[in-house]
Amino acid sequence: MNEISTPRPNNLDAFWMPYTANRAFKGAPRMLARAEGMSYFTNDNREVIDGTAGLWCCNAGHGRREIVEAIQHQAGVMDFAPTFQLGHPIAFQAAAKVAEHTPEGLDRIFFTNSGSEAADTALKIALAYQRARGQSQRVRLIGRERGYHGVGFGGISVGGIGPNRKQFGAQLPYVDHLPHTHLPQQNAFSRGQPEHGAHLADALDNLVALHGDTIAAVIVEPLAGSTGVLVPPAGYLQRLRELCDKHGILLIFDEVITGFGRLGTFFGSERVGVAPDIMTMAKGLTNAAVPMGAVAVHDKIFRAIVDEAPAGIELFHGYTYSGHPLAAAAAVATIDLYVRDELPARAKAMEGYFEDGAHSLKDLPNVIDIRNYGLVCGIELQGRAGKPTDRAVRIFHRCFDAGVLIRTTGDIIALSPPLIVEKHHIDRIYGTIADAIRAEAA
Ligand code: PLP
Repeated sequence: MNEISTPRPNNLDAFWMPYTANRAFKGAPRMLARAEGMSYFTNDNREVIDGTAGLWCCNAGHGRREIVEAIQHQAGVMDFAPTFQLGHPIAFQAAAKVAEHTPEGLDRIFFTNSGSEAADTALKIALAYQRARGQSQRVRLIGRERGYHGVGFGGISVGGIGPNRKQFGAQLPYVDHLPHTHLPQQNAFSRGQPEHGAHLADALDNLVALHGDTIAAVIVEPLAGSTGVLVPPAGYLQRLRELCDKHGILLIFDEVITGFGRLGTFFGSERVGVAPDIMTMAKGLTNAAVPMGAVAVHDKIFRAIVDEAPAGIELFHGYTYSGHPLAAAAAVATIDLYVRDELPARAKAMEGYFEDGAHSLKDLPNVIDIRNYGLVCGIELQGRAGKPTDRAVRIFHRCFDAGVLIRTTGDIIALSPPLIVEKHHIDRIYGTIADAIRAEAA
């Protein structure tokens, strides 16, 4: 590799890195310079197996020629065109392609640039729908403890993560939360959907008792990834669906992580057997090659908002880059690739091996839980007394230095490899993690 293709920064100061311990990173930077298939390569050309599909997003692996060529081609044809009161063909193609794979009825697609924007867009559409159907008292949004819906004000408000409240204080009003579904005492070391916890959905009845008919929507991730891989208990999402229907509340699934094959089906909703009214997606939509998010909306919601509105703009919402030509080209090529290579089915076929590998770590020191579903696994560690996250961060560094990229959140290791992962990669990933866990046993 020459210097041009693996640039070395000579100043780390300017880039305020997101969700990063900036001082620690800049003291000992770990840089990725290129990527191909299942691997990253560092500046000094050391291979690092990708155990996390980047950030849960490069589901087809890295540097896929079909996606790269589609982006290059589109950049030459038309770099940008507005989608406000104008259109361009590839954005419509991309929307139709997404709609081929969403649950029945969810075939109206609104494009955003990220998962955070998709979450906020979904919440706004839910509010607009309730007004359009004459339920303007329904202004309340229900999230869940330990939910993650990105970093916009809507997302952090319905999300259930303490540090957002601690650091920023102000949140959206009219928000409440369901309890999270993590029951370690009953469900530790579950394989697939845990047995206990369907009843936790009944908390929605309590919120309705409290807030009456002011609730517009409930938003949950089918599987909560970012807060440590919380797999939905069997029957929980079914129950939530029933209660939303009973109370006239929309159900939003945030499928930013669970979309595009991660759970062994095109969308997580198919795997869990529950269809929401609105679904968000991002990440795997373009294999992360160009930023893009989307919201799939049930036709009844679209019609209520759009068909019933007076002439003019029906939904006062949109991003300069909604349906950006390069992102749309990447989405079309990506979805074609998922279909051609049957990557969701491949993930399903690999799930058993991935699961066995995960649970083989059960008896290692400080491992207090292992949970998995699809090609996602969480390995929870006992944190060091008085030093939360220290053990996991050190394990992350050890793995990286030994050539495997993992992700940690709190003292939980979260794995989500590209769906092209082979058995030998899985062996290598778990073997490296096992060594690192042993080395950090003290
Ligand atoms: N929603 C979920 C479920 C996510 O996991 C994420 C990111 O991890 C987001 C939303 C935010 O997406 P983005 O970082 O693209 O804004």
